[in-house]
Amino acid sequence: MTKLFQVFFLLFLFAPFNFFAQTTDIADALKEHVRLLASPEMEGRGLGTAGIELAREYIIDEFEAAGLEPIGESFLHPFQIRVGLAWVPAYNIVGKIQGNNLDLRDEVIVIGAHYDHMGYVIRAGEKVIYHGADDNASGTATLIELAKYFSANRDQIGRTIVFAAFDAEESGLHGARRFVGDSIVNPADIKLMFSLDMVGMLEEYGGLDMKGIGALDGGEEIAARIAGEKDIRIKARGHQIERRTDTWPFGSVGIPAIHVFTGLTSPYHQPEDTYDLLDYDGMSSVKKYMAKLVTEYSNLPQLQPSSSFVAAARVVDGQVVELRRPFFNYGIISHTGSGHHKYRDEFFDANAVFNFGIGLFAQFHLSDKFTLQPEVLFDLNGSKWVEDNFRRQSLTAPLNIQYNLFSEGTEARVFVLGGPYFRYNFGGKQGGISIDYDDEFSETEWGYNIGFGLEISRFHFGFTTRRALTDIYQNESASGEIRDASAYFTFGLKF
Ligand SMILES: [Zn+2]
Repeated sequence: MTKLFQVFFLLFLFAPFNFFAQTTDIADALKEHVRLLASPEMEGRGLGTAGIELAREYIIDEFEAAGLEPIGESFLHPFQIRVGLAWVPAYNIVGKIQGNNLDLRDEVIVIGAHYDHMGYVIRAGEKVIYHGADDNASGTATLIELAKYFSANRDQIGRTIVFAAFDAEESGLHGARRFVGDSIVNPADIKLMFSLDMVGMLEEYGGLDMKGIGALDGGEEIAARIAGEKDIRIKARGHQIERRTDTWPFGSVGIPAIHVFTGLTSPYHQPEDTYDLLDYDGMSSVKKYMAKLVTEYSNLPQLQPSSSFVAAARVVDGQVVELRRPFFNYGIISHTGSGHHKYRDEFFDANAVFNFGIGLFAQFHLSDKFTLQPEVLFDLNGSKWVEDNFRRQSLTAPLNIQYNLFSEGTEARVFVLGGPYFRYNFGGKQGGISIDYDDEFSETEWGYNIGFGLEISRFHFGFTTRRALTDIYQNESASGEIRDASAYFTFGLKF
């Protein structure tokens, strides 16, 4: 062997060992953070508990040791949230590393991870702790290691990086909401946000979700290239912002916000989410991937929302201020209530029977005020008759326009509704005898609906009355015209 070849051979031989040594160090450090944060002493890091106080002290110590600078006077961003009748104190923990590029350092990339979890319950006299190792000691640990990495490599970052350990995520993203709402960092300066929420299952999940990466102009290309270099498989991407983690308060005001996630592979929201189950080599890979990715983003001349993300947003004075509802969504809906027949030419109505319908609905959000909602329902309807019950099976298709009286971003709205419906009757019995749609009863029916409702996140609630404008008989009966009428509580779930 030549000397040169020997040198190369030795380098080649030892390089992998060095690589593993380094990986193992980081994996060990991550494991130690998670072991402590998810330990019984931390009591599942429930809101306002002594356990979360310990977790907080730990994170502050780690931020300090990493060399982060506080944004205000301390690392703590205190706020209160209402739980039942009480106000509970909560604290985000926020630190930063100033960027190096004088032109870019006023712009900020936020890396966040919520550190709260579900706490504990007393079950049959025993304390049952929800340890929350994957959710989200894993993200918190990765955040700490990223803080250390960027602190040691601060000469390589252009923009300022803000590290935020959010409180009160599990009870409704309160920490991230207050971070944005209280302008801890001016939201206009935040160009990009990551929420590390459940990153401890890389291998088992078979990759990494980067949902929302397409909200950043050119974001997907860079994320994919670095994933190739780091041998990570990206599973989810696109410009949709995840609503169920701290990305949402950022995304809903137009900041590209990415959920870094290794799936719901762990025992999600169960006491069994413990530190021994996590994939620490995988977390180490996630940390290295994020380190490279954020370094690169921090130095790009421009960080802008992508055109597809902006198209889904409301822009005021050139600033994205709010995400709009997607034009189209759909889900399942149920109608539960009662119905009866109205005798148009008599002085009485029939008594009511239980009515029920279930089916699919779609929504077309035509504007901020108007939504068109067609539905297709399998429907049981009818009425009490003098002798016995009249029960019909139908396919019912309401088509309602909803007018929003009130809406809060894309998250909640209150509306009134009205529109026609069409009904096709195909089965049923009257007093034990099958209904005859050939000669006696009408096979089709139409009428109108009116009602009101509200939507919160993916949940749809409403009240609808439905009135037929056609007779249940093909030819008018001896009692004159008889029409179906019904009233329902509706419950829907959007996918
Ligand atoms: Zn979580």
